[in-house]
Amino acid sequence: MSNVAVCVRFRPLNSRERRINGDLACIHSFDSESFVFKDEKEDIRFCFDKVFYSDSEQLDVYEFLASPIVEDVMNGLNGAIITYGQTGAGKTYSMEGPSILECVEHNKGLLQRVTDELFGFLRHPVDNKKFTIKMSMVEIYMEKVRDLFDLSKDNLQIKESKTRGIFISGATEITITNSSEVQQCLSIGIANRAVGETQMNLTSSRSHCLYIFIVQHEERSRSGKFVLVDLAGSEKVEKTGAEGRLLEEAKTINKSLSALGNVINALTSGKTNHVPYRDSKLTRFLQDALGGNSRTALLCCCSPSPLNASESLSTLRFGTRLKLIKSVQRSFPADDDSSISKQATSDSSISKQTTSD
Ligand code: ADP
Ligand code: MG
Repeated sequence: MSNVAVCVRFRPLNSRERRINGDLACIHSFDSESFVFKDEKEDIRFCFDKVFYSDSEQLDVYEFLASPIVEDVMNGLNGAIITYGQTGAGKTYSMEGPSILECVEHNKGLLQRVTDELFGFLRHPVDNKKFTIKMSMVEIYMEKVRDLFDLSKDNLQIKESKTRGIFISGATEITITNSSEVQQCLSIGIANRAVGETQMNLTSSRSHCLYIFIVQHEERSRSGKFVLVDLAGSEKVEKTGAEGRLLEEAKTINKSLSALGNVINALTSGKTNHVPYRDSKLTRFLQDALGGNSRTALLCCCSPSPLNASESLSTLRFGTRLKLIKSVQRSFPADDDSSISKQATSDSSISKQTTSD
């Protein structure tokens, strides 16, 4: 059973966008699940499970998107939350808050809220069923999986087993029991990520960051997994003029995100016996989350500004494709999903975008 909830979050206009265009935004006629996106060429109505606008609170996003998944994870399912969007669209803000070390209660991100809720179960176990929570943090960059708790492990392999499902073999796992331990782990991981960035001269927007929580119940043989994925920026990486490593990097970043697009296309077109999960590390790791027994949510992060209209449209189309997975798994035809507007689904650029990138 797969059930992918797709939500959109528009961040507030930033100072540059305001300086150039004032309050101008691309979103019109909106309600809590849909809006019309206007750019120079067209008006398109998009519908999602939920849309969060610029005035949304971190708590709103958590309650709708993540809280139900925490409960499912406690009941033995796997869970995943993925943030997608161009660089600067609010992925990390939604995941970590404005700065992981300086978060106050109201702007805490999904990560802190998810772990706080897990710890609530830890303190008050349902039916006295005991469990432990372990945390790993890795980064996928140029098809290599790097341990953010131990930088000497810079090429970890992804494996699969009966008891663990898909897992990252050899990744450091730290047992966590309270928020301050999570905070410590996150600051180590984030600091290590920055060290790697300096060494390799990359920016974090080019790598995928995976926060993995393993929930091991005493009386169950199989552990549950809750992954939060802050994806690399979805903008097209400029290849013009790029040479050597930069060109390789541009190709590889496009490769893992387009592999994700291809997996989604296969899942939504009904070709479920031939899903190309193994085409990239990212899709291999997300195999359970996209087609397996996982409760999964995608948060599409967008700028509301006309300056970013084409990247936002591409993000919204990606989310629209992913939404169709739900219909396929429920085994009724994809175009039966009346919540997808005609304009959005009939637009041929949707499939172009996800297959030819
Ligand atoms: P991304 O991770 O997608 O590259 P960030 O999360 O780093 O983008 O966001 C870019 C900037 O916008 C940051 O300064 C961040 O604090 C700010 N920002 C993003 N989303 C919001 C929001 N919902 N409310 C307030 N500020 C936000
Ligand atoms: Mg980021």
